[in-house]
Amino acid sequence: MKKRILVTGAGGFIGFHLVSRLKRDGHWVRGADIKQPEFDPTTADEFLQVDLREFDNCMAATADVDEVYNLAADMGGIGYITASLADIARNNILINVHMLEAARKNSVGRFLYTSSACIYPRYKQEIPDVAGLKEEDAYPADPEPGYGWEKLYSEEMCKYYNKDHGLETRVVRFHNVYGPIGTYDGGKEKAPAAICRKVALADNEIDIWGDGEQTRSFMHVDDCVEGLVRLMDSDHRDPINLGTEEMVSINELVDIVCEAAGKELEKAHDTSKPQGVRGRNSDNTLLRDVLGWEPQIMLREGIVPTYHWIREQLKANGRLT
Ligand code: NAD
Repeated sequence: MKKRILVTGAGGFIGFHLVSRLKRDGHWVRGADIKQPEFDPTTADEFLQVDLREFDNCMAATADVDEVYNLAADMGGIGYITASLADIARNNILINVHMLEAARKNSVGRFLYTSSACIYPRYKQEIPDVAGLKEEDAYPADPEPGYGWEKLYSEEMCKYYNKDHGLETRVVRFHNVYGPIGTYDGGKEKAPAAICRKVALADNEIDIWGDGEQTRSFMHVDDCVEGLVRLMDSDHRDPINLGTEEMVSINELVDIVCEAAGKELEKAHDTSKPQGVRGRNSDNTLLRDVLGWEPQIMLREGIVPTYHWIREQLKANGRLT
């Protein structure tokens, strides 16, 4: 069935890919973001370039739509989210509470909120060889300061809007998303894109934040978008992980990127830089139960087009010959 769908954050990495996917599926799509997509033009039927911290803009964005994918957020890599706690938390709280209220007032059918693995308590993530995080591990709470606390609070707000107002909410906890057509420079990029850029530009050596033994799992953006659409269509309202269980250390991630690039490089570790929690992985038991599906693309496979896209961008910008 053809639906009318709003994607906020449509000028950003995942939002851009989600709009393209929803258009391919035949829906009418409105994008909203404070900025246009950076690399390719949007395929949305309508694009509102607005600040979603403002309630009136949220009302305009949610008018006459069946579903909302609320991805807009002030976010970036670990350097960015640890640098300005007050601004990030304030900006995101304003976006999310206003978007929920506007969706309720405009009688939106379903509202999906994109949370993060950053909501999980730090005491569960203190060693590299860590157990996968289950949804119920979120409490007692001790999330990432600023960004993680705000995500957890907004998860709760979704629950309250469902309980008090019957708004059909979905809450997805992403674990590190990567892929082409995303920020790879300037401070807002995340580890896979930053490492692809560094490897592409390096002759002998690349710098790595921390000792590189910290672990994560990484999900390709095509899997991310597939999971979003499936979760929106499901009946599952409680928060749910969306990530892979393929945990690698940052040193291993560098090796995988070097393999894709056909390069051998020395690693220079800078332990003065922020590195986030020591170990993090997704436990997909609930995801498999709910969807009968989980992300399929292995890191070794997904990093190849990501690396080559970033390399092409660097060439186009004259930073690489
Ligand atoms: P992104 O930064 O590329 O996209 C977010 C978009 O929100 C940006 O285009 C930005 O301009 C927009 N935005 C910020 N403030 C706004 C405002 N006031 N009004 C309107 N638009 C505004 O990030 P992304 O990687 O595409 O992430 C999408 C969502 O997924 C975010 O909510 C993010 O917190 C969440 N998430 C992402 C990851 C990941 O690995 N990429 C991991 C966990 C959670």
